[in-house]
Amino acid sequence: MSEKKRGVLVLYTGSSGVGKGTIMQELLKNDSSIRLSVSNTTRNPREGEIDGVHYNFVTKEQFTALIDEDGYLEYAQYCDNYYGTPKKQVEDMLNQGYNVFLEIEVQGGLQIMEKYPDVLSIFILPPSMESLERRLRRRGTEDEETIQKRLEAAKYEIGFKDKYKYNVVNGELDVAVNEVLDILHRAVNESN
Ligand code: 5GP
Repeated sequence: MSEKKRGVLVLYTGSSGVGKGTIMQELLKNDSSIRLSVSNTTRNPREGEIDGVHYNFVTKEQFTALIDEDGYLEYAQYCDNYYGTPKKQVEDMLNQGYNVFLEIEVQGGLQIMEKYPDVLSIFILPPSMESLERRLRRRGTEDEETIQKRLEAAKYEIGFKDKYKYNVVNGELDVAVNEVLDILHRAVNESN
């Protein structure tokens, strides 16, 4: 039996409100080789979010227990909550040949770049800061203080865009989705 080729690890970053979750849903629909890593977080679920699907919602104690076991590929604090990528699930999916996306913020992204210098890194940009603010407000899931914090975080994060191999502007959804798929498929071909 032939051994399955290891998948490509994709670091996928974009600030809150940039629409990276929507792009991600389209990627998953379009390409069955793609898997999204499910993170652990200490933040509360938003309406409609399902434990084990969107995140594993954990307590601070559960989160730190896995840090002590060296169970994270990376983790970071973002806007008062912890977020981390459990190591085992990512390794398992890569070994099964899936192309695994880590949808994570910039501090975690930098940790991943250190550990995996060849990681396929993609940064999703808004067409403008005004459009980002509009999207964050339209989502209506956060209070004003949280929106302000997330806008500040977005400005900070965009400052790191040049550390990523690819920048994709999410102006039109279809265009952005196709651009990410092209980037992935080129990387998969190169790794053959
Ligand atoms: P949100 O609260 O909007 O779901 O996520 C806030 C930020 O945390 C987003 O930029 C999201 O991509 C990022 N994030 C989600 N999971 C992880 C993770 O496991 N590690 C890190 N470093 N960031 C994450």
